[in-house]
Amino acid sequence: MRELTVLGTASQVPTRHRNHNGYLLRWDDEVILFDPGEGTQRQMLLAGLAVSPITRICVTHFHGDHSLGLPGIIQRISLDKVPHPVAVHYPAGGQEYFDRLRHATSFWDNSDVRPEPVGAGFVVETPIGRLTALPLRHSIEAYGYRLVEPDGRRMLPDRLAERGIVGPAVGELQRTGRLGAVTLDEVSAPRPGQRFAFVMDTGLCDEVFDLAERADLLVIESTFLAQDAELAAFVGHLTAGQAASVARQSGVRTLVLTHFSQRYPDATRFLDEARTQFEGEIVIAEDLMRIGVPARAQVLA
Ligand SMILES: [Zn+2]
Ligand SMILES: [Zn+2]
Repeated sequence: MRELTVLGTASQVPTRHRNHNGYLLRWDDEVILFDPGEGTQRQMLLAGLAVSPITRICVTHFHGDHSLGLPGIIQRISLDKVPHPVAVHYPAGGQEYFDRLRHATSFWDNSDVRPEPVGAGFVVETPIGRLTALPLRHSIEAYGYRLVEPDGRRMLPDRLAERGIVGPAVGELQRTGRLGAVTLDEVSAPRPGQRFAFVMDTGLCDEVFDLAERADLLVIESTFLAQDAELAAFVGHLTAGQAASVARQSGVRTLVLTHFSQRYPDATRFLDEARTQFEGEIVIAEDLMRIGVPARAQVLA
């Protein structure tokens, strides 16, 4: 299963309807928590999610709305005696903030939390693909994340049947690329890997486009509306229109807008402005919403 659960969608301060940030990506056996803001542990409870499956935590930057939930999540990992290691990525320049949050209060530490700070050229191979980070343009050091599943091949049942290839022979063909006179290419089609991108607090910069490039699912901040574009640029944030324009130019499939300023009570305005820039699927994120990674793009043989 590949699905994003939205835990919080507010920038700066939580509101009655929006918690601070928090996004849980389940991608097969990997469960990645992005930007746990204050209250993330309780939002997970309300979403019916346990902390124990989390395999990795990615923090874009050390502003409170993206990281004040770390102490609670780490202590819960410890309390629940999560047996596997949990890698935590965060801007290397924010090490002192991480150290404080990691040990914010006294607790009996059973966790196997493994700090893996992010710097220039960060890349890590995970069981589900390559995770990279690129710097964003914000008031403090910040990174966006991008997860890319390797391309593969999709077996075509009709072609296999035509050639009488069944059972274990299919596996052998996949492993060796050839079975007698039949090659893998003849009975399979390219299967493009899926891509997920996570872009939080940033002004517009090349890296935003690089992160979003052909993402099946892009989660991107949309703090402001066009009426406040000057302010957005000044403080290092995006408008809904800018975020949607990134999605269009980068060939994104599903666009998730979030991190809304509390100054706008009507979230439909974000959709209206985004719609002028992007024709694909747009989701205006709400707390506790579940968003499926769209079905794999099919490439015909
Ligand atoms: Zn923020
Ligand atoms: Zn910020």
